[in-house]
Amino acid sequence: MNEFNSRFREIFFEVYESLPRQGPGNRECAIRALGLCQELPQSPAILDLGCGVGGQTLQLAELTSGSIVAIDSHPESIERLQAAIAKRGLSRRVRAVVGDMARIEQPLESFDLIWSEGALYNIGLRNALNVCHGLLRPGGYLAFTDAVWRKKNPPAAVQASFDLDDPSMGSLDDDVAAIQDCGFDLIGHFALPDEAWWDDFYGPMELRIADLRGKYANDPEALAVLDQLSEEPEMHRRYSDFYAYVFFVARRPIDPRD
Ligand code: SAM
Repeated sequence: MNEFNSRFREIFFEVYESLPRQGPGNRECAIRALGLCQELPQSPAILDLGCGVGGQTLQLAELTSGSIVAIDSHPESIERLQAAIAKRGLSRRVRAVVGDMARIEQPLESFDLIWSEGALYNIGLRNALNVCHGLLRPGGYLAFTDAVWRKKNPPAAVQASFDLDDPSMGSLDDDVAAIQDCGFDLIGHFALPDEAWWDDFYGPMELRIADLRGKYANDPEALAVLDQLSEEPEMHRRYSDFYAYVFFVARRPIDPRD
């Protein structure tokens, strides 16, 4: 990693870790997605993949009486979530662990619900869907969000931004095909509304960036990183009609032999 890249990483996390969430999403969308999981047991066993600092993990702990294992590969995010779990007295049923979702050390067919907001694409959507299929008990649900293109030929800056983060990003139809090809029944899907991008994500991000511009007023390299990070919410203001975040709820079919 060259010096600018390591500075970028340092400031990227200084911005992102302080946010309530590290991607779009909100409580209303979580309630709507949970509502599509109609045959969950009373206290489901839940796995939250790519949980970040756990904005949605803590909401799931409020919205269900289930047990939750939350996994992320970034140790500092897990430390923050562990502190929040302890502070809220949730340690008996919520556990946050550092791990790689491509190599989950959990028993197969042990979860009633796998939740993942804005994270599955990191290991390739189809690969992630296969991992989730194996970890869900037959009849278990997968609720996840993923970015999709809404229109062809986006402006070059938008294409470049997504190419950097998620080069295999497809259309809604591509994701639906992947879900079905990987052996799931699609229960439903809906696009996240604009407030789910702003309330807990881009809004706090812009405030945090403004704050850090003061801290780094005499540090041109840090200011250049902050300029770069501020492009994403600005891009969303101008071009959000080209892409969307979609909540998908899918179900592993109940084995006909059961
Ligand atoms: N779910 C959180 C949210 O919506 O606020 C975080 C979403 S953030 C866009 C994606 C998360 O995936 C990051 O926290 C990142 O550390 C995590 N991640 C990336 N690759 C991962 C992997 N292979 N295993 C586990 N977590 C991973």
